[in-house]
Amino acid sequence: MTPSRIPLAGVIGDPIAHSRSPRLHGHWLARYGLPGHYVPLHVAAADLATVLAAMPRMGFVGANVTLPHKVAALALATRATDRAARIGAANTLTFLPDGGFEADNTDGEGFLRNLRQGAPGWNPAAGPALVLGAGGAARAVLAALIDAGAPEIRLANRTAAGAADLAAAFGPAIRPCAWEDRAAALAGAATLVNATALGMAGKPALEMPLDALAPGALVTDLVYTPLETPLLAEARARGAAVVDGLGMLLHQAAPGFERWFGRAPEVDEALRRVALAP
Ligand code: NDP
Repeated sequence: MTPSRIPLAGVIGDPIAHSRSPRLHGHWLARYGLPGHYVPLHVAAADLATVLAAMPRMGFVGANVTLPHKVAALALATRATDRAARIGAANTLTFLPDGGFEADNTDGEGFLRNLRQGAPGWNPAAGPALVLGAGGAARAVLAALIDAGAPEIRLANRTAAGAADLAAAFGPAIRPCAWEDRAAALAGAATLVNATALGMAGKPALEMPLDALAPGALVTDLVYTPLETPLLAEARARGAAVVDGLGMLLHQAAPGFERWFGRAPEVDEALRRVALAP
């Protein structure tokens, strides 16, 4: 970037109007007094390659990508980080000086940073984890839990083939279990993660009995609308450590901001308020 150019970044998706990313990055730019702009970019799948090729010529230093472009962006990348390749999707792109872009995926890092910030005493290596769901978000969660030293990850998904596919992709630490057996699979677990869409406002409830929840276990939900899902409320009532999913969204944004605008931003109460504002 030449000093005379104001760095631009944005989030590419279809739809995009709902995205909270512009307000998060806008908050950080204003807070640190940095030059730069971060904009929502509504881009159809058929235009993704053309748009990504043109963006650096317009002054863009990077971009986030969201649904439905996360897999396609990885395929279009000049190079990819190991974690993006492992997850099979990209959410953070950085344009390279010689053309093209690097694809990264910061969802797993965001997931872990959120838990470490929200539950400092949590030790992922202390026991097995139980993960519900086998979609795109679950892939990032599995990669993160393996890297954090979880000795065993029990994986329950409504569609058994989804869990089996992820076990084949992520190796022997992943133990698929039947969706119907999820309550029993909680026994002895140090960590419980809801990575399904269940429990989100407008979606069916997550039926997850917590009778087998171990004392000292951590429970987290990737769903953050509502912020306190019924799963988290029940876990809290039983004395578990509880971390909501909003922090994952905030923390996954931080590495891109640092790369593009040159400063590691803080994820704190002020940022949460910005994200939650109507
Ligand atoms: P996907 O569509 O890729 O996966 C959805 C998952 O939910 C699948 O495992 C699916 O099971 C399961 N599911 C959906 N409906 C039902 C149902 N009726 N009964 C049982 N299981 C069901 O979505 P993502 O992985 O991208 O996202 C999952 C959730 O995580 C969403 O709520 C999303 O908003 C949230 N999320 C939060 C993030 C954060 O920063 N906090 C980041 C990313 C996602 P099946 O395979 O059987 O269809």
